[in-house]
Amino acid sequence: MAEAKTYKNFIDGEWVESSSHRTFENRNPADRGEVIGIFQDSVEADVEAAVEAARKAYRRWRLVPAPKRAEYLFRLGEILLKRKEEYAREMTREMGKPLKEARGDVQEAIDVCYHIAGEGRRLHGTTTPSELPNKACFTTRAPIGACGLITPWNFPMAIPSWKLIPALVCGNTVVLKPATDAPLSAYHLVKVCQEIGMPRGVVNFVTGGGAGVGAPLARHPGVSLISFTGSSETGREVNVACAETYKRCALEMGGKNALIVMDDARLELAIDGALWGAFATTGQRCTATSRIIVHKKVYKEFVDRLVERAAALKVGDGLDESVDVGPLVNEAQLKRVMEYVQIGRDEGADPVLGGVRLTKSEYGRGFFFPPTVFTGVTPTMRLAREEIFGPVVSILQADGLENALEIANDTVYGLSSAIYTQDVNRAFAAMRDLDAGITYINSSTIGAETHLPFGGVKRTGNGHREGAAHTAIEIFSEWKTIYVDFSGKLQKAQIDNN
Ligand code: NAD
Repeated sequence: MAEAKTYKNFIDGEWVESSSHRTFENRNPADRGEVIGIFQDSVEADVEAAVEAARKAYRRWRLVPAPKRAEYLFRLGEILLKRKEEYAREMTREMGKPLKEARGDVQEAIDVCYHIAGEGRRLHGTTTPSELPNKACFTTRAPIGACGLITPWNFPMAIPSWKLIPALVCGNTVVLKPATDAPLSAYHLVKVCQEIGMPRGVVNFVTGGGAGVGAPLARHPGVSLISFTGSSETGREVNVACAETYKRCALEMGGKNALIVMDDARLELAIDGALWGAFATTGQRCTATSRIIVHKKVYKEFVDRLVERAAALKVGDGLDESVDVGPLVNEAQLKRVMEYVQIGRDEGADPVLGGVRLTKSEYGRGFFFPPTVFTGVTPTMRLAREEIFGPVVSILQADGLENALEIANDTVYGLSSAIYTQDVNRAFAAMRDLDAGITYINSSTIGAETHLPFGGVKRTGNGHREGAAHTAIEIFSEWKTIYVDFSGKLQKAQIDNN
């Protein structure tokens, strides 16, 4: 096997080593023996240098006309499209998701590039009449400054792109800090930014841990905005750090998403959605279906059929095209899942499928855990309340729509939700009453399209939405209100005309 390549930080247009002179390994979770790459284990001094570069570059980048900034992003999308297969394969190797899903992850970045590139010729403001004569009023969008982007490992190219691309079109510069479990996909994104000739300092890339890089970035007074995606616990710390330095802060955090199956649902369709929602990306999606709430009239039939289908899913290395469920991302994640399975057993829930780590020879080198289904779960159990982030789904029983909605909403999170029903009245009631940023009707809890707002309520978010151009642009720009008085005299609002 070829020796693993060492990747550097990208600061002010140069690839540089960390001042710590330390590195960390990025290993394949399907085969721990395989080192995918060696990355810089950076420290505060590297963050300082990157922020300084981003602040310096900001002075010029903000003045590049937005349509020209957007042209860079269009070219970025063109190159990602050409290299989609190569980057998808590397993504599967670095964090384990099956190849077809990794292709989807790269495709999300491509979609965001094309969509936001068009935004360079919009970035609309508003005009409105003045209450005074010979006076004009309008609004424009202004960039914010140097932005810190902190991302998780589960969508290693898509999530950085959701932040990077709208930030750049608005005229901001960035320091991107990817997760230590998946820095390679973010590296590819940054490398292409360099290849297309983006001016130096506009995009900076610093790898390393949360304490070494993420926290210094969040508290740096020279950073004007932090856009963070990760767990609610870390998001809270980031929010506090941002408050102390008066930064704008956009948080996308955890989930405990519910999928409701009513007694009139098309059961096979609901099972398709439940399996995809619970076990795609090995359950490691913020929108993963973690709770299935089933009407008591169809509970038994649904459980029997779901378990039969889940048992047939193929677990293995995501590079094998026939695999449905890849490994967990790392050992800590595997241990967490095993702990929750034990918690579920101790609480009296019934593991009707899976629940035991896969150790046969073909699995021995990776962090494989089988699709696991718990029945007999009640809303007060930790299994039903805490984010597990693994291939473990809890099935709960409801006696009607009202009860199902009540159970679904009984969580501190509020990202995604779904209901399967053929009854239009029930569907509309669910659209209105499910306490979540996203609701799917007759479709799984996962499946976001990049041009619609993405985000959640309660402990999932803090009021922002990524994704759709208009909501992402809201995050990465400031409104500026302009008054132009061409009357040639002092005119006083609220006073002269009343
Ligand atoms: P995490 O919170 O552990 O880490 C996220 C990022 O924050 C990483 O880059 C990490 O290094 C960094 N970080 C850690 N401590 C920090 C600190 N003190 N200050 C600043 N940065 C710090 O999350 P993860 O394990 O990488 O990802 C899984 C979590 O992400 C899950 O909770 C999942 O629900 C959530 N997630 C949410 C969304 C969403 O859009 N809502 C999308 C994907 C993942």
